[in-house]
Amino acid sequence: MDVIKELKIFYKRFSGEKGIIGYSTLKRPIYYFALGGGEKKIIATYSIHAREYITTYLAMESIKYLSSKRLNGKIYFVPCVNPDGVKICIKGKPLYKANAKRVDLNVNFDADFGKGKHNLFYENDENFVGKYPFSEKESRALRDFTYFIKPNLTLSYHSKGEEIYYHFKQKGERLKRDYALAKEIALLTGYKIKKTPFSSGGYKDWCIDKLSIPAFTIEVGSDSLTHPIKKESLPKIFTQNKEVLIRLLEKL
Ligand SMILES: [Zn+2]
Repeated sequence: MDVIKELKIFYKRFSGEKGIIGYSTLKRPIYYFALGGGEKKIIATYSIHAREYITTYLAMESIKYLSSKRLNGKIYFVPCVNPDGVKICIKGKPLYKANAKRVDLNVNFDADFGKGKHNLFYENDENFVGKYPFSEKESRALRDFTYFIKPNLTLSYHSKGEEIYYHFKQKGERLKRDYALAKEIALLTGYKIKKTPFSSGGYKDWCIDKLSIPAFTIEVGSDSLTHPIKKESLPKIFTQNKEVLIRLLEKL
């Protein structure tokens, strides 16, 4: 059974708060799950890049694990932002990152749109920014969900490299605040904190730039692994990341 089917079954069986934030280009539902309650809110997203669907498994494991914990706030999980792309990847394009329209969703957000070093302006398996910011149903769904929830922080799971990105032009107190939180993530995961000066148009970039909240990308999985990362790596990745959301809620 592929990860999209597994997520669908997981969704049906989940008895807590859940819903659909929107639909993909090919009309697949983009699910969310919520745990905890209270003032502080985090949105955690997974598999915006197709070949990184090991993170959807990480989302399901994290939801199971955190279901029994007392949380100092509320976590909204979006385990698969790009279900069409994941299907394309599984069906025979192991390096595929984009959505069904061959737009790379994580460069389609309105934050220095089209100014990234690796940006492309034609359809491609990766790095095509799209015709304009939020041209894609999936990025619009995530934007609108984020406006609706008004999170205090967002976390975007990607693979690979065991790195943490926290920076997008923010300065002063905000930079200090965000770096301190990145250090908390680094302590728990053992991953390296990195600046990404050539990044633009990402969900994390947009959250920092337009919402002024801390936002992080976590790249799971050793760089020596090949895309897509196999499920046998999941236990290690889960162990490294299972406390991250709890800690971030405590530190917010
Ligand atoms: Zn990615």
